[in-house]
Amino acid sequence: MLLPFFRAAAFCISITHGEKMIAAEGHKPDINELTELAKEAGFTFAAPLAMGSLEFREEVREMCSSDRCRSFGKSWSCPPAAGDLAVIRKRAERFRSGIVVQTCGDIQSSFDTAAMHAIMKAHKKNFDKLVRQIRFFYPECLPMGAGACDACRTCTYPDRPCRHPERMYISMEAYGLLVSDVAESSGLHYNYGDNKMTFTSCILTD
Ligand code: SF4
Repeated sequence: MLLPFFRAAAFCISITHGEKMIAAEGHKPDINELTELAKEAGFTFAAPLAMGSLEFREEVREMCSSDRCRSFGKSWSCPPAAGDLAVIRKRAERFRSGIVVQTCGDIQSSFDTAAMHAIMKAHKKNFDKLVRQIRFFYPECLPMGAGACDACRTCTYPDRPCRHPERMYISMEAYGLLVSDVAESSGLHYNYGDNKMTFTSCILTD
């Protein structure tokens, strides 16, 4: 089903990355329409981002350097390549609105890595798609990803420049954000119960 802003009388058609995107001329979707767009893109949950929940905490950033996720110093999307927290938080602080998106799926147990991987893959694929669509309306938007970028089989860091900077999203954690706080403050959950796995990302729009 097409969204209301796609139903307006005057339409233009733009081809972006091989996708056919239809947009009403002169209409910029608001945050609620972007939330609906996210659900149509395949996310399980989406909500307007509670901007007051964006606290850029050094202690979260320090968890990156403890390398629990084994991505520290291995990707352009993660610290230290992601940049100093004091610098990158300034990028985020100029925004006034955004959306949170989540992909939630079933796992058999906490050892069900195949299911976790499949949910993560779906999340990242849908996030790429949504970011492309939102950039159509908000070219300066700021996507924040879930974990390290895995767009390439092997990251070029640190020897060569990033191969796909348009798909390299610095993670929410690298911005010092507590993902659970952001999700809960935005009316979503961080944990949807036993045998569920959820990935969360966000996009600051304007
Ligand atoms: S797009 Fe490729 S080179 Fe760039 S950060 Fe991601 S994995 Fe590394």
